[in-house]
Amino acid sequence: MSPNIPQRVLAANVEIFRRALAEETFGNVSGIDSATGQVFIKPSGMAYGEIALGDLVGLDLDGKIVSGNRRPSSDTPTHLEIYKAFKGVGGVVHTHSRFATIWAQVQLPIPCLGTTHADYFDGPIPVCRALSATEIKSDYEKNTGLAIAQSVKDWTSVPAILVPGHGPFCWGKTVEEAVRNATMLELVAHLAFHSLQLKRDVPPLDPLLLQKHHQRKHGGAAYYGQPPDNK
Ligand SMILES: [Zn+2]
Repeated sequence: MSPNIPQRVLAANVEIFRRALAEETFGNVSGIDSATGQVFIKPSGMAYGEIALGDLVGLDLDGKIVSGNRRPSSDTPTHLEIYKAFKGVGGVVHTHSRFATIWAQVQLPIPCLGTTHADYFDGPIPVCRALSATEIKSDYEKNTGLAIAQSVKDWTSVPAILVPGHGPFCWGKTVEEAVRNATMLELVAHLAFHSLQLKRDVPPLDPLLLQKHHQRKHGGAAYYGQPPDNK
């Protein structure tokens, strides 16, 4: 087992609060230990400033609690479905960050209008399909995760989705990457909101520029930043 996963999950939960991506007790971060398949997540309803390492809850992918005495975040079944569907995801972040939640509430995908967006997301941020009444009435959180899995084609190219009427879920190969993606999602949601206020028919970013910016940072021949052996 990677002993630092719970510590990193705790730090990530504190970080989304510090970055103003979560208010009160909204939001939650989880991380998975790839060696054991054990997921650690924020306890339900606890203030971010009060969570200690021992308050985190560890679960297996079937939702069985294997460590901790707290009740896990109510969104835990959504997180578990994301881990089950997207092999290689190391962390999941759910927030009610303001501008991303606005887009989720009006149920519109966030268009890619600039290279800030393209640097992190290879296209528009999609809106998840809506749940049926049956799906809402029972196993709501699990069904939300299943709907997310069905609505995402490639979890690596656009690591975020807007759950209609609710808010965003983001993920990454690590817990830290998931927090970064949630941060960048809020930034691009903010930028797109105001860009469209200034010019309602602003065109999407030139696909060539989108690809250029995304690939130079994330593609097989990425050349943005310092190479791993020169950091
Ligand atoms: Zn929520």
